Amino acid sequence: MRKLVDKLALEKILTREEFKMLLASGDDYLHERARAAREETFGNKIYLRGLIEVTNHCQNDCYYCGLRLSNAGAQRYRLTKEHILDCCAEGHALGFRTFVLQGGEDPYFTDEILVDIIRGIKTEYPDCAITLSFGERSYESFSRLYEVGADRYLLRQETSDDEHYAMLHPSGMALSTRQQCLQDLKKIGYQVGCGFMIGSPGQTLDHIVDDLLFIKALDPAMVGVGPFIPHSSTPFAGEKQGELRLTLNTLAILRLMKPNLLLPATTALGTIENTGREMGVMAGANVIMPNLSPTDARKNYLLYDNKICPGESVQLYLEQLKERMCNLGCEVVVSRGDYVEI
Ligand code: SAH
Ligand code: SF4
Repeated sequence: MRKLVDKLALEKILTREEFKMLLASGDDYLHERARAAREETFGNKIYLRGLIEVTNHCQNDCYYCGLRLSNAGAQRYRLTKEHILDCCAEGHALGFRTFVLQGGEDPYFTDEILVDIIRGIKTEYPDCAITLSFGERSYESFSRLYEVGADRYLLRQETSDDEHYAMLHPSGMALSTRQQCLQDLKKIGYQVGCGFMIGSPGQTLDHIVDDLLFIKALDPAMVGVGPFIPHSSTPFAGEKQGELRLTLNTLAILRLMKPNLLLPATTALGTIENTGREMGVMAGANVIMPNLSPTDARKNYLLYDNKICPGESVQLYLEQLKERMCNLGCEVVVSRGDYVEI
């Protein structure tokens, strides 16, 4: 197994069978090597992004997600521009220099409305980066939002296999559209983030290898990988959650494939295991996205069950996070933390 890890660190690619062996591996050397690669590239720095959950309305019906249109039980909300700017003010005072605006595919958030919000944030906080994550939009829409100051966009491909994509989404949604959006975002100049869940229903190790190969070809700045966690009001309510070890192995493999990748230790990882995010960092992750949403919004932005929802004070949470990272020999930093080509 060690030989495979060393080969990946050196060549940044493996054969399909080799990838599958590493994904299934129980050898901690994989994580040690990934951690070393993170340290070589970023020192002991862990980047923070402040997550603002702008809306939980969604026109889509992804089978895995608690925000899906057909979930009549969801308490829907939208934040106003003023609410969002308040979240940014709190985050900025605490040192956050990236704001991630995320939401369902909510037709209320037209280009005009998002342009106004982005301009508002950039005027108040010109030293900050803005990341958007509002699902699929047209090339024109992505361009407009980029022109007024959006820097980055997160859109997970979810899977790189058409049949598997059709198991996770209703027939109106297509993997090709998702992939086209990612190409468009890159072409426009965004720092692009893609990604996928581990253990989504029907996923095999071969699917994960397909995702790794897709990521190799797309060459994104960020990759979001976290375990699938069932939501009780979705068609996948009775499915198993994604495995911790497989998630950590995938993070470690991604770190070795692309040492400069921005790789979050996700909230979902912290949800399936108390110290999941620390484990993610120890397996090569270098980004954490604390939640800056107002408490009411946070409670209702439920992609999956049992989402960790730390107390009201972001400040307190941040202090604890700094201490937890410090215990791992890491330092939480407050710069924009842009992607750097190597
Ligand atoms: N609507 C946007 C952003 C919100 S969803 C979009 O779909 O891109 C953000 C991510 O949450 C999705 O990409 C998906 O990978 C993840 N997610 C949704 N439901 C989940 C679940 N049940 N378990 C784990 N992650 C989930
Ligand atoms: Fe909507 Fe995103 Fe959830 Fe799909 S994953 S239902 S697009 S919020």
